[in-house]
Amino acid sequence: MSFSVRCMDCGHLTAYHPNEINCPQCNSQWREAIYDYTEIAKALPGVLAGRSFDLWRYQELLPIARVQPALRMGEGGTPLIRATNIGTMLGCNNIFIKDERQGPSASFKDRQAAVTIAALKEAGITEMVAASTGNVAIAYSAYAARAGIKLWAFVTSLVPAVKMREIALYGSQVVKVTGSYDQVKKIAADFASQRGLYLDMGARTITSVEGMKTIAYEIAEQLTLEFGRDRLAPAQGPGWRTPDWYVQAISGGLGPIGVTKGFLEMRQMGFIGASGTIPAIACIQADGCAPMVHAWKQNLDDASPVVNPKTHIETLATGTPGRAYKILRKKMLEANGLFESVTDEEAFRAMHVLAKMEGISAEPASAAAFAGLFKLAHAGIIKPDDVVVVNCTGHTMPAEPLVLGSSWARNVVLPSQEESPQEEGLLAALSRIAPDRFPRIAIVDDTADARRLIRRILQSQGEYTLFEASNGREGLELIQREHPDLLILDLMMPEMDGFAVLDALKADPETAQIPVIVSTAKELTPGEKGRLQGQIHALMQKGDFMSDEFLEEVKSLIR
Ligand SMILES: *Cc1c(COP(=O)(O)O)cnc(C)c1O
Ligand SMILES: [Zn+2]
Repeated sequence: MSFSVRCMDCGHLTAYHPNEINCPQCNSQWREAIYDYTEIAKALPGVLAGRSFDLWRYQELLPIARVQPALRMGEGGTPLIRATNIGTMLGCNNIFIKDERQGPSASFKDRQAAVTIAALKEAGITEMVAASTGNVAIAYSAYAARAGIKLWAFVTSLVPAVKMREIALYGSQVVKVTGSYDQVKKIAADFASQRGLYLDMGARTITSVEGMKTIAYEIAEQLTLEFGRDRLAPAQGPGWRTPDWYVQAISGGLGPIGVTKGFLEMRQMGFIGASGTIPAIACIQADGCAPMVHAWKQNLDDASPVVNPKTHIETLATGTPGRAYKILRKKMLEANGLFESVTDEEAFRAMHVLAKMEGISAEPASAAAFAGLFKLAHAGIIKPDDVVVVNCTGHTMPAEPLVLGSSWARNVVLPSQEESPQEEGLLAALSRIAPDRFPRIAIVDDTADARRLIRRILQSQGEYTLFEASNGREGLELIQREHPDLLILDLMMPEMDGFAVLDALKADPETAQIPVIVSTAKELTPGEKGRLQGQIHALMQKGDFMSDEFLEEVKSLIR
C-alpha cells in the first residue's frame, strides 16, 4: 500500500505522519492523500467481490498500511434505502437514503473516526484532543476505546447531556465549554498545543476526508446494483453509476469534501463516466448558522463568520467555515452543486415527515438535509427523474421536547390492587387512552394515488380522522353522513364532478358551512373560476400539497 500526501497549495509531496500537519514547503494545512491510481484501477474491481461490505473494502484507497481487525466494528457498508413514500409526495421517482444511522455509533462520523483512529494507532499515538458538536466525539471515543487511545473531548454546553454521557461512558474526558463551537475549537487547540497532543483538525484532517470519501464509493456500487452497469462509463472499468444529486446537511463541510474526492477519484480511475457524472452536491445549512449559504448566494469566494449561531440544531453550528467554504464552492461550481439553508422549523417538520412516512428516525441535523430536499424539489431544481441520494447522517438524539411538544404520550396510571379489582381498573384506564376527537377531513378524488398522497401528507403532519370517496356521488353521500370539518375536493371526476358536488353541498343548510379546499390538476377557465367564486376557501394545484400553504390552510380551516 502506498500513498503520499500532496499539498493543495504548492503540490509538494511528502510521506504521511499524523503529527505533521503543515506542508514542509509552504506551511499550508490543506493537504490530501493521493494513491497510485493506475495500479488500483487495475487491481481493485477484481478483489471487491470477495470483500465484506464495509469501508475497508476500499483499503487500497485508505491512508493506512494495513487493516487492523481489532479496531473494526462494521463501519461503513450502510444500506441505500429507496424512499418510495417521500418520492411520491415530492413527485420524484428516485429518492434514496444513505442510512448512516446504521453505523456503530449511529452517525456518519464513524467513518472518519474509524480511519483516523486506525492511522493514529499505526503511528503509535496514545492521546488526542478533539472539539466536537457531539457526534465526532462519540465516534472518536468509541474507536479510541478499542485502540487504547485517550481522548479529550471538548464540547459546547449545548450538546445534549445524553450525548455527553455517552462520550464519558467510553472513557473519554469530557470538557464542557460554555461558548460557541468556534470558541470551543480554539480552547481545544490551545490545550493540545500546550500538552503536545495530537489535535483533530476538522476538515483539514487527511484521514477524516479519506474516511468520508468511502460514502461515494458505496453509493456508486449500490446504485449499480439497483440500476445495472452504466453504459456510458469506460468499457474496461466496472461501470459504476453515480447519482444526479447528493444531499447532505453540513456544518464544517467535511462530508461533502470527502464525498467529492471519492467521485473524482472514481472518475480518474475510469470506474464511472468520464465527464458530467460527478453528482451535484447540495450542502444544506441551518438558517441560524448559514455562513456558506450567505456567501454562495452573494457569489463570494469567502464566507464571513456567523459569530452567534441562532439554531437549536447544535450539530450544525459551525459559524466559521474558513477555507472549507472556498474548497467546496469551487467543487460546487464545477459540478452544478449548491448551498441552501432551511429553518429549524422546516428541519423539525422534515424529521416528522421522515419518521412517519419512511419509518426513519433521524436527528434534527440529518432532517435538515431532507428539508433541503423538499425545498429543492418544490423549486424544481431537483427534477422528477433525478437520482437523488440524501445522507441520513445520524440517529435521533433527544430533541423530542422541541420537536414533539409536551403532549406526545398518553398517560395511564393504574389504580392500586386494593382500590379496585385489577381487571376493572385496567379497562377503565385503557378507555381513557382512546383518541380524542381528531379533526375530520373528507378527501374526494377519483385517482387513488392523489388520495393516498393527500392522506399521507396529512397523517405525517398531524392527527386527523380521514374519510375518502372516489367519485362525486359517493363523496356527497359521505359528506352528508359524516359532516366532516373540512372537505378536500377534486373537480374532474366521473359520475358527478366537483362543481356539482359543491352546488349540492351549498344548497343544503346542513352542509353549506363545511369549508372546502379544491384540488385541481388543470388550469381553470375564467368561467370555471367564476363558478367557484365564494364557494370554496382555497384552490390548490395538484403538486402543491407539500407546500406550507396547504398545511396552514388545513390548520386554519379546521380550527
Ligand atoms: C457532523 C454532522 C453533520 C455535518 O457534517 P459535515 O460534513 O462535517 O459538515 C450533519 N449531520 C450529523 C448527524 C452530523 O453528525
Ligand atoms: Zn505546500
